[in-house]
Amino acid sequence: MTRDVDFLIVGAGAAGVGAARRLCALGASPLLLEASERIGGRAETRHVNGHVLDLGCGWLHSAARNAWTTIAETAGFAIDRRMSAWGRQFRNLGFPQADHAAAADAMERWYERLADVPPPSDRASDAMEPNGAWNAFIEALAGYISGVRPDRISVEDYVAYDEASTDDNWRLPAGYGTLVAESLPARATLRTNTAVRRLETERDGVVVVTNAGTVRARAVILTVSTDVLAGDAIAMPAALDPWRAAAALLPLGRNEKVFLEIVGGAPFEDETHVTGDPRNPSTGSYYIRPLGAPVIECFLGADGARVLDEGADAGFAFARDELVRLFGSEVGRHLRPLAATHWSGLPTIGGGYSCALPGHASARATLAQPFEGRVFFAGEATSHSDFSTAHGAHDTGVRAADEAFASLTHDRSSR
Ligand SMILES: Cc1cc2nc3c(=O)[nH]c(=O)nc-3n(C[C@H](O)[C@H](O)[C@H](O)COP(=O)(O)OP(=O)(O)OC[C@H]3O[C@@H](n4cnc5c(N)ncnc54)[C@H](O)[C@@H]3O)c2cc1C
Repeated sequence: MTRDVDFLIVGAGAAGVGAARRLCALGASPLLLEASERIGGRAETRHVNGHVLDLGCGWLHSAARNAWTTIAETAGFAIDRRMSAWGRQFRNLGFPQADHAAAADAMERWYERLADVPPPSDRASDAMEPNGAWNAFIEALAGYISGVRPDRISVEDYVAYDEASTDDNWRLPAGYGTLVAESLPARATLRTNTAVRRLETERDGVVVVTNAGTVRARAVILTVSTDVLAGDAIAMPAALDPWRAAAALLPLGRNEKVFLEIVGGAPFEDETHVTGDPRNPSTGSYYIRPLGAPVIECFLGADGARVLDEGADAGFAFARDELVRLFGSEVGRHLRPLAATHWSGLPTIGGGYSCALPGHASARATLAQPFEGRVFFAGEATSHSDFSTAHGAHDTGVRAADEAFASLTHDRSSR
């Protein structure tokens, strides 16, 4: 395969699709190269036993200002605008109301310290109360939010996200992954199963070597995850070392999901939620019968997500055990394995989402810089405050597309 294109996009996740949409709107016809067999990256909707499961992103966070909300509305996708049940514990099971209030208060006070008196170390764990009664609960929540333990979280980064995000979290009954996959314009060309192995710059553009041939382009937009960028899957010129170094300061945390199907008469109610064990930092967050489906979605973060390293069965057993402890042993026979993720084990992704290491929130801006008007960077990790989301990824794709388009337009007009 030898093709000469103006705009090449590496990676067809939310950022790659966002970049492609913008370039197409500007009249260009980009080529997307995607290593895996499908479009979407960390946006993946899978249909299992008739259930619509979002293995990666599922929530339209900051929904009223989320670009995917507008894209969904325009394309005629239904949007469920109900409030999420996250903050609630069904029937106070295993988490008496007084404890729940105390834990929520401890989380709130931790956040206030992060925002108002940030520790000089920029390390989020340094704002925790020594031996605080609810430190395990804070760790569990931080694990869902950031994918890592608080000692690996930059305070500046965490606060930037929190201040920019809003409380409206909506859902797409057809699946977030479905929306992303169906949003690539016809003007764009997608090549799946095409992994970029090497990138070289030349006077007028870039040469990209893949497992399926070489592509010459005038500009390339790289949207691969920070773990891929910082690793050795794509060989790059030494001049791009500062970008790779920035990516290494924004490693992906661990976030995984386990889905169980509810069969028969079990005491699970629609749109309810439980935390498995608020005193265990590795506990799961269980969303029960989301949108009324007979499914339980277990979300695991940081060290809690490591159980999936042992395989899907270990994840199912963990989730089932936590639920049995709360709901009683008889519910065990009503729970059947449906699906489990292992994003950390995928060489083309490598984890959940990026989190800046303490002292390195500015690495996001470094990574977002263009290189010589030919290499542009997008992807959730390059967002200043919407990182770790699909809308953040989308918006960085738009930003990189605008930069690349302006650069080529400038090249042409200055000839
Ligand atoms: C469990 C989980 C739950 C989440 N929940 C939410 C949520 O509710 N709401 C939300 O907004 N966000 C959520 N996210 C985060 C969101 O999914 C991501 O931030 C977003 O999808 C990232 O998009 P991206 O385009 O930056 O990267 P990616 O989706 O990783 O896209 C990069 C693409 O590059 C491809 N690629 C890699 N290497 C190569 C190569 N060498 N050559 C060519 N292609 C390559 C990859 O296969 C991939 O398709 C969640 C993520 C996870 C894992």
